[in-house]
Amino acid sequence: MIDEEFDFLKRTKLEFEKAIRFIDAEIKPIEKGVVKFLEQPFRQLTVRFPVKMDDGSVEMFTGYRVQQSRLYEPTKGGIRYAPDVNLDIVTALAFDMTLKCQVVGLPYGGSKGGVCCDPKKMSRAELDRLTRRYAYEILAVIGPDTDVPAPDIGTGEREMGIIYDTYKMFNPQTPYAAAVVTGKPLNLGGSIGRREATAQGGAYVLEEAVKRRDIDGLSSLKDTSVIVQGYGNVGFHIASILHEDFGCRIVGICDSKGGVYSEDGLNPKEVMAYKNSNPEQSVVGYDGLEHLTQEKLMMSPCEILVPAAKETQILSNIAKDMKAEVILELANGPTTNLAHEILIGKKVYVLPDILANAGGVTVSYFEWLQNKAGESWELGQVKEKLQRKMATAYGNIVETAKNHDLDMRRAAFVYAMSKAINVIYERGIFP
Ligand code: NAD
Repeated sequence: MIDEEFDFLKRTKLEFEKAIRFIDAEIKPIEKGVVKFLEQPFRQLTVRFPVKMDDGSVEMFTGYRVQQSRLYEPTKGGIRYAPDVNLDIVTALAFDMTLKCQVVGLPYGGSKGGVCCDPKKMSRAELDRLTRRYAYEILAVIGPDTDVPAPDIGTGEREMGIIYDTYKMFNPQTPYAAAVVTGKPLNLGGSIGRREATAQGGAYVLEEAVKRRDIDGLSSLKDTSVIVQGYGNVGFHIASILHEDFGCRIVGICDSKGGVYSEDGLNPKEVMAYKNSNPEQSVVGYDGLEHLTQEKLMMSPCEILVPAAKETQILSNIAKDMKAEVILELANGPTTNLAHEILIGKKVYVLPDILANAGGVTVSYFEWLQNKAGESWELGQVKEKLQRKMATAYGNIVETAKNHDLDMRRAAFVYAMSKAINVIYERGIFP
């Protein structure tokens, strides 16, 4: 195992360079300066700030906001609270956001934010104070038309509500101030369907692949066996949607403490109720099933594996022994480059993150549009528009893959970067 395999930013850059070389040689020559312009984030903000803890002590925290591309304004990207958040991870995630928005055709640049903290070890009140202070620290660089945050690991509607409130307090005259963040509570202008959007979008991509018979031997999702790695927002919703709407058998589920497997299938809602009710807040122990490590679970028999936890989870040693025929990447960067090569060699159909999990930012875009227009759409409308966006994006990436004989990840990079380069040429360089 080489260190590089664990370095998310390096991996992203390697993939970027390969796609650039391909576009330059096979599609159209690119000016060197334009490559740098596309590669480098235009703003990397690091903030250090104090938070009063419940016991009266003061702790210092480090937060980030990285704005990657000025292809379009605003930039768009989630905020992550986790102990391993650092500038490199946030930068890699911001870069992914730039490409993801191009893949689904949204008029956004990419960004990402985060705070290095362990939300599981903090009280609600401490997290609220941290969120309000972090929002204040990044206030100068966010806004409905400049940069619009959203939830990611460790954050959700509550944090988005607080960020909106903080922004509004300092910008009372701004029209459509609710559009400063997406993934808000419904009462504050959140969109119906945003909570489950990432998973719903992934399900639509998978459905489209099956409908078009692009996956060897898979003509229907009914009774297909699925393992879900990560059981938070995205993991829970994909398990529920695939089980309830598509008739899949969810045979394995894991979280940060480990997982469970049952060939007969698990009921996603019951597993979540169990997770919420035990002191460990884990799926481990559900129905007396054997405790499996995450690695063992990912190597267990299934047709579809859905990584929905975090980056760098499917490593080369795991990829070699995995049984899945399809990987639906709902987490960002879950598969390392070495593991991906092994999977492609094994003819596994990998639906890459910048396509598969773009449903989240797509419904965030719908929320932003609703806020700007003072509208509130119905669930059917949101789902129909999302389905169309995801099916079109899937079609575009498949076409790129077929036209240039590329795997789906390379095709998604090439497609997104070709579009981004055109935008740079068309806008020109200021002044
Ligand atoms: P979340 O915090 O709600 O859930 C993360 C889950 O992963 C938790 O259950 C946690 O216990 C589990 N986990 C952590 N480490 C693990 C490990 N080593 N093995 C197994 N499980 C582990 O976060 P989320 O919002 O569901 O995000 C999950 C992934 O999806 C992230 O990569 C995120 O960037 C990506 N994503 C999220 C959104 C969104 O809208 N929330 C959009 C696009 C992409």
